[in-house]
Amino acid sequence: MRPFVSEQLQVLNPATEEVVATIPAASVADVHMAVVRATRAQEGWAALAPGDRARLLRRFAVTVDAHVEELARLEVREAGHVIGNARWEAGNVRDLLDYAAGGVERLTGRQIPVPGGLDVTILEPLGVVGVIAPWNFPMPIAAWGTAPALAAGNAVILKPAETTPLTALRLAELAREAGLPEGLFQVLPGRGPVAGRALVEHPGVAKIVFTGSTAVGKEVLARGSNLLKRVTLELGGKNPNIVFADADLEAAAAAAPMAFLDNSGQDCCARTRILVQRGAHDRFLDLLAPAIEAVTVGDPADATTDMGPLISRTQLDRVRSYVPEGAEGIRGKAPEGPGFWFPPTVLTGVGPEARVAVEEVFGPVAVVLPFDDEADAVRLANATDYGLSGSVWTRDVGRALRVSRAVRAGNLSVNSHSSVRYWTPFGGFKQSGIGRELGPDALAAFTETKNVFISTEGPQ
Ligand code: NAD
Repeated sequence: MRPFVSEQLQVLNPATEEVVATIPAASVADVHMAVVRATRAQEGWAALAPGDRARLLRRFAVTVDAHVEELARLEVREAGHVIGNARWEAGNVRDLLDYAAGGVERLTGRQIPVPGGLDVTILEPLGVVGVIAPWNFPMPIAAWGTAPALAAGNAVILKPAETTPLTALRLAELAREAGLPEGLFQVLPGRGPVAGRALVEHPGVAKIVFTGSTAVGKEVLARGSNLLKRVTLELGGKNPNIVFADADLEAAAAAAPMAFLDNSGQDCCARTRILVQRGAHDRFLDLLAPAIEAVTVGDPADATTDMGPLISRTQLDRVRSYVPEGAEGIRGKAPEGPGFWFPPTVLTGVGPEARVAVEEVFGPVAVVLPFDDEADAVRLANATDYGLSGSVWTRDVGRALRVSRAVRAGNLSVNSHSSVRYWTPFGGFKQSGIGRELGPDALAAFTETKNVFISTEGPQ
C-alpha cells in the first residue's frame, strides 16, 4: 500500500529561482482540526480580562519588533520584495498589533434610552475567523485581518498564499513565544482550492477575510453564502492617477513611477492608469521618461534597489501577455538571466478600451491616457469595474475635492499616492471589494452587535 504523502508547497526565491523551502500543504482534514483547536482557544481568549488580552497582543507586537530584520530578510527571499519595503512590512505588523491592542479596552457598546428599563449593546466576538491572504504583501495583509480579529476576542486561522507561507509561519511561532494561547492564531499553508475553500465552507468559521483576485473573491462570497458567512473582501484595482495641467508637473512626474512600480506593480493600489490633461501631456511625458529610466531594478536585498522581480514565472508570463513587442512607450531596464524580471513599462499608444488599460496587470506596466477637462477625467477614472484607490494632482483645492468626491473608489489621495495607513480605513467600491479594514472601526468588523434590554419595571 502506498503510504499517505501530503502535498508539498515549494517556495522559490523569485530573484534567483532557487528553492527556499518545501513545506507540506494543509489538507481539508488539517483545516477541520485547526477549527476544533481554534474554537477551544477562542473560548478562553474571549473570557480573559480585556487588559490581559491587550497586554498579550502588545507583547506579540514587541516580539515582532525584535524580529523585524529576520522577518524582512525572509520576505526578501520568498517574495522578492526590496529590503526597505520588507522592513516596513514587518514593522507594519508590529504597528497593527499595537494599534489593535489599544482597541481592546475601548471596544464599547452603547446605552440607548428606552422606556421601562435599560438598553445596552454588546459587541461580541464572532468566534473563529479565517484570513485568506495573497502573495503580494504577505505580512501586512495577514496582519490587517489577524490583529483586529484577535483584539476583538476571536481566534484566527490564517491561510497564506501558496508562494509565500514563510513569514506567516514565523509570525505564528512569534505569537506563541509572546505567550498567546495555543490554537488562538494558527497558520495553515495550503492550496487555495483545498485549504482556502475548506475554511470558506467550514461551519465552524464565522467570518472570512479574503484578500486576492476579484474572481476568487466572488467564489468565496458565493460559497460562503450557504452559511451566510460574514466576509470582508479586498480585491483588485485599476487605479487612476489623474494629472491636471495646473498641477506641479515636476512633482507629479517624479512621483508617478513608484506609484505603479512599487512592489514591481504587484499592488492592488498601483496607479496604473495615468490620466493626463491634454495641455500638459507632452511635457509630462518628457518629465516621466527620465524618471522611469532612473528606476533601478535588481537584487532586492541591495538597499539601493528600487524594484525587485515579479513573484513567479506564471506572473511573468501574464504580465508579458499585456505588452506586445515594439509597443509604443517608455521602457526601463531589468536584469537578464534567472529570476522573474520585467522592466518598468509605460505604454502611450493605447486607447482606454485596450485590454492593458482595462484589466489589472499586477506588474510594472502603466498606460498614459489623455483627457480634455474635469468631467472627462472623472468619466475616464470611473470607466472601470474596480474602485479601490486613485490620485488627483492639481493646485486647485476646489477641483481636488470635487474630483476626489466624484471618483468612485475607496481611497483617494491628493498630490500624493499614499493609500494605506493602519489607522485610516481601507477598502474598495464596486468590484474592488466589500467592507473596510484598518482604521478606528477595524475591531467592530469582527464582532456581532447584541442588544440587551433590562426591565426596571418588572415583567413587561
Ligand atoms: P488569488 O485570488 O489567486 O489568491 C488569494 C488567496 O486566495 C491565496 O491565498 C489563494 O491560495 C486563495 N485561494 C485561491 N483559490 C481559492 C478558493 N477557491 N477558495 C479559497 N481561497 C482561494 O490572488 P493572488 O493572485 O494571490 O493575489 C493577487 C490579487 O490580490 C490581485 O488581484 C490584487 O489586486 C489582489 N489584492 C487586493 C488587495 C486589496 O486590499 N484590495 C490587496 C492585495 C492584493
